[in-house]
Order: sequence, then structure tokens, then C-alpha cells
Amino acid sequence: MSRHERPDAGRAVEQNVEAAVADAAAREQGGPEPVDTAPDRIDPPGAGPFEAVLFDFSGTLFRFTERDEWFEGVTDDAGEPLHITAQAEIIRRMTAPTGEPVAFTDEERQAWEQRDLDPAQHRRAYLAVLRGSGITDPHAEKLYELIRTPSAWQPYPDTAQVLRELAARGIKVGVVSNIAFDLREVFALYGLDDLVASWSLSYEVGATKPRARIFRHALDALDVATDATLMVGDSAEADGGAMALGCAFGEVEPLPIEQRPDGLVRILTAAAIL
Ligand SMILES: [Mg+2]
Repeated sequence: MSRHERPDAGRAVEQNVEAAVADAAAREQGGPEPVDTAPDRIDPPGAGPFEAVLFDFSGTLFRFTERDEWFEGVTDDAGEPLHITAQAEIIRRMTAPTGEPVAFTDEERQAWEQRDLDPAQHRRAYLAVLRGSGITDPHAEKLYELIRTPSAWQPYPDTAQVLRELAARGIKVGVVSNIAFDLREVFALYGLDDLVASWSLSYEVGATKPRARIFRHALDALDVATDATLMVGDSAEADGGAMALGCAFGEVEPLPIEQRPDGLVRILTAAAIL
């Protein structure tokens, strides 16, 4: 589908790429680095003692880390190599999308809304984002496959340490994620899969955060009480949904991994677990 059929798409692309160019320019001029502003406290304060910790995946235990070589040979719909800022903008849309990242058709919008419930809809939605960002086939298909590759996700520096310390203390661990592929493969790549007792993945459970059902799935699997459970995540809106069931919530910042060396340790220390 061409941009001509979607009058807003071209303008949105321009605005987003302009913003990415401005960010890149600010960084080159020594502009402000992203900083960790997550509070070192849990909500409600004083909750616990805890018998279980539920973790979000993306931006919490792991972060999507793109590689330059992914874009080698990838061209836009004019046949030109992608500028570095256009690459950054595409990755942003794929990993931290807010609202609708491109102008969707009705069918694509439906796929977008159901992307974490059905792998086929996930593929449809993200290919629409790539194509709407000016990436043509077969490049769009290639990039989509890379984004689903387990090695594209890297653990935060303190992820392994925290999971091992929780195991040593007998604290149960569950992962609760809005996701359309099997995260166990990502954890297995780092030898961490055995440290997670329950997996509540939206496409398997049939519900996404912040709906109660996905948190309930985790609590039932671990057989723990809500007031003995801490949810840790980078989204107050999605992960903080656990509070509606009576769990406590601790927020971390989804920074690049090298800029968040101890975010998990700090929140679990604030919760008096470590
Ligand atoms: Mg997250």
C-alpha cells in the first residue's frame, strides 16, 4: 500500500524522523543522556513481606538491543540505504510504540490491537509498521524476523544476579509479559530459564496487562497471596495493573542496558527482599 492511499502516513513519518534527528543531534553535542528517574520505592510503601516477585520482560529484565548489521542492504521505498536516524526511528516504533506508530487501515489497526494475543496478528501489525515506515519487502520481512530473534534481547546487568538471589532466598519468580512469542527461548539463551517458576505470556493466557486475568494466572501458578507479591515493571499503566488485585508495584526505567546497572537490585532492596 502506498503512502498516497494514507494521507497522514507521510506527514507522521516526517515528524517522527525529524524528532529522531533532533535527538541524535542533541546526543552528538553532548546533550542530556537518559537518566534513571524511577523511584527507589515500592507502592504502597511498607508492603510485604514478599513471597513472590513477578517481573515484566521488555524494559525490565531484558531490553531489545538492535545491531547495526541488521540494516545492511536494507533500502527504503526509493531504493536508498536508510539514514541512521531513520533506522533509530524504525526501531523505536517497533519496540516502544505509543499510540499508533503509523497510519493504519482498519484491518491493520485490528491486528495492532490484538498483536500480543495472536502471533499472526503480531506479524501483520509489525509488517504494517515497517511498510508504513517506508521499508519494502523483502527487507520488511527480514527485519521482522530479526526482531523476533532471541539474541536480539539482552539482559540488564543485574538480571542474572537478581534471579539467582531470589532463588537462593526461596522467593518465587514469575514473568508476566505482553508478548506474542515464547520468551523461554530468550531466558534459555542466558541459562536463566530454570530460575523462572511461572510464565504468564499474553498470547498464551489470552489477556494482556493491565487486565487482572494475566496477573491472576501468575498468582495461581505460583500459589501466592496478592499481598505477598511484588510486581516489578517499567510501565505503571500496564505492570501497575497488578495493584488492582492487591499486589505491590515497583517501577524501573527502561533505559539502555549500559545505563541501568542496578535498577532491579535497587527496587528489590527497597522492598526489603534483598
Ligand atoms: Mg515493559
